[in-house]
Amino acid sequence: SDLTETIDGLVRPIEDWPEPGVTFRDITPLLADPAALAAVMDGLVELAQQAGPIDAVLGIEARGFLFGPSVALRLDAGFVPVRKAGKLPATSLSTSYELEYGAAVLEMHVDALTPGARVLVVDDVLATGGTMLAAADLVQQAGATVAGNLVLIELLALGGQARLAPVGCASLRTY
Ligand code: IMP
Repeated sequence: SDLTETIDGLVRPIEDWPEPGVTFRDITPLLADPAALAAVMDGLVELAQQAGPIDAVLGIEARGFLFGPSVALRLDAGFVPVRKAGKLPATSLSTSYELEYGAAVLEMHVDALTPGARVLVVDDVLATGGTMLAAADLVQQAGATVAGNLVLIELLALGGQARLAPVGCASLRTY
């Protein structure tokens, strides 16, 4: 489709970054192109609408912040930031998850979600799914429900989709 070609033309593979053997998908050329940015936002909203009614869009620091608020506005939902450890000012829920080397912590304000809320989690790239699973843990701790996960790009080789079953993760493009 046109959107697939747009993404393929403007997402830049960077070999051996952030470490040897990794190909990093750099979305900054896509962000810089106004027509492409609009098309991607439209595509994300279309996928988001397939998740049913959404009360809150949760964005993951940092690149989930680039897309989450725009999607939230179009769904008439609020935006909730999930941040790395120690960044949020008020009382927060916390979850730790495995990275390739060591562990990381994600946090969300304890009062950010209404219990029972249907939440859409947004990020730029799905790789192993560890980040999305950590976000789901925060949603569950808050007594809310993950109604959908949404990314621009899914990296198929890393198995994230299976780890997010049964909710799964919608994407605009897979590599
Ligand atoms: P996961 O937890 O292994 O699924 O990794 C996903 C997280 O790492 C997301 O927050 C992404 O922003 C980031 N990430 C992993 N690979 C890439 C990439 O190739 N491009 C941009 N972000 C990436």
